Amino acid sequence: MKVVRSAVALQKLLLPLKKKGLRIGFVPTMGALHEGHLSLVRRCRQACDVTVVSIFVNPLQFGPKEDLKKYPRNTTRDIRLLERARADILYLPDEKTFYPPGFQTTVRVSVLSEPLCGRTRPTHFAGVTTVVARLLGIVRPDLLILGQKDFQQYQVVRRMIMDLEWPVKLVMAPIVREKDGLAMSSRNVRLSKTERLEAPKIYRALRLVRQAALKGERSAAQLKKILKRALSAIAGARVDYAEIVDAESLLPVVKLLPNRTYLAAAAVFFSDARLIDNMLLRVK
Ligand code: AMP
Repeated sequence: MKVVRSAVALQKLLLPLKKKGLRIGFVPTMGALHEGHLSLVRRCRQACDVTVVSIFVNPLQFGPKEDLKKYPRNTTRDIRLLERARADILYLPDEKTFYPPGFQTTVRVSVLSEPLCGRTRPTHFAGVTTVVARLLGIVRPDLLILGQKDFQQYQVVRRMIMDLEWPVKLVMAPIVREKDGLAMSSRNVRLSKTERLEAPKIYRALRLVRQAALKGERSAAQLKKILKRALSAIAGARVDYAEIVDAESLLPVVKLLPNRTYLAAAAVFFSDARLIDNMLLRVK
């Protein structure tokens, strides 16, 4: 795997490959890699000739009181994991060269950035779309792979790509979970032993919602109640949100209609570590 730190070096590497007509896939990450990230790399390898991964802890997507400083970083281990997963190129920019002095552009998707995580993190998605726009401008991939774990991020980026008519195909990869159901996340290492034992209950709460929907519950208010009650019963957890929304607009719904896709989504704080998870719901 080639490791490059500047956009120019990356473009120099990619240009001849693109000229040959090779298909370039891109997996952006913030590092502290786990099996969830590596599943995206594998997916990318299947669909493309060249897999580019980036690791950049993007300061723009952290609020002033959030965990930017505490965000886990382990580049040596990440490089080892990416080599094992057979990524081709790692783009590892540092903050100063990535956002040089004078950088003043923001890319913001309005309505989709507001509900769910956008409520607690009002500047988060503008940070995400700005960094993804910048990364797409540098890498210019044919394919971009994002995880369902950050479903709102996927929808916001999808909207940006559609609105700006960028020639990149977006693919969503499924959530990879620990054996006990906890969605893998770089932030899981920040959980205490007891919090780690409680955290899989987020997934169990989402499954209760799915079971209720499968058994015929169509009222979004009832499903939300089931989700909220189960999350509130988790010891040491503070529920940030528990919502049932339309999977495309991310807006609240009243009733689940057949052949449409909905999203049960949750964010829960354990101390100051905020975990998110979600589940798609479809009823016949
Ligand atoms: P992050 O490093 O948290 O910014 O995540 C980078 C990419 O990995 C995003 O597209 C995430 O949605 C995806 N990702 C993170 N955790 C998981 C997971 N457990 N399963 C699948 N994809 C994930």
